[in-house]
Amino acid sequence: MIKFIVNTFNKNIFEKIQNFPIILRISDIKNISTINYESNIKNVAKVLITLDSDSPILKIENDKIPVDVYLRKITSLIKQLPSNITVFLHSDLDENYLKVQKLAESGIRCGIFLNKTDEVNWDRLSKLFNYCQYNNNLMHLIEPFNSLINYYCKPLLYNVNSIYCNNPDEYLHINDNGDIAISLEDMYNSHFTVNINSTPFLVDKILEQNRIKDNSFFLTRHRCSNCIGWGMCKGIFSGRNATENCRLFFKEITGYLNDQIERLAKSKVTNENNNI
Ligand code: SF4
Repeated sequence: MIKFIVNTFNKNIFEKIQNFPIILRISDIKNISTINYESNIKNVAKVLITLDSDSPILKIENDKIPVDVYLRKITSLIKQLPSNITVFLHSDLDENYLKVQKLAESGIRCGIFLNKTDEVNWDRLSKLFNYCQYNNNLMHLIEPFNSLINYYCKPLLYNVNSIYCNNPDEYLHINDNGDIAISLEDMYNSHFTVNINSTPFLVDKILEQNRIKDNSFFLTRHRCSNCIGWGMCKGIFSGRNATENCRLFFKEITGYLNDQIERLAKSKVTNENNNI
């Protein structure tokens, strides 16, 4: 089911989308407490917060709704956080890869935020992935590896953008005026697909448009078209000059996941044979 990402407390908007799960995007941490008291926004499934500094994280009191915190960098030594909070650090700062590792070692849910605009240090990301594979002491696996490993076996390949609530097949973004965008970037650039007040308002139609866009991507023989990572990445790094590094990373992670699936299948056959 489609979920709406909302960056407003506008009651009219909430009424219009009352049948959909809501992801609330806020910039002021004080607004988290509002969610507990506003009876009209009961269907909030998650809160997303983008912060300039990490110090307000410790003030998050709500412990019921999952809260994803997006930070460019972390400056303090956070050793403990409630388990409903996941901290995402942007991929463009080299120090963040080690910081994420330290957070995970302290038992904090965390991950690297991969998106269209930030640079990624693919070498560090790959090292972090290797660290996750061989370190059994982590209390939580680091994102995006955690979700990719958990969902890969499902029939459809998992789109990495879902981790960051930015997969257009799953999430639509809506602003205070009811304008709807299919990605966070489109929202920031005021690139809207439709308005919630347009009649008839058909979510399915928006999703169909996305699928057509995906298909035309392949018809143009784009350089991502033959990439093994397409199912997971959907070309989010394709606007960059070099796509070789992202391709290698997704090849590595796909190889690992295929090995895991093969190993599981073999152990299943062995168990079945032992039971005959
Ligand atoms: S080449 Fe890079 S951007 Fe394109 S699908 Fe592969 S991993 Fe994604």
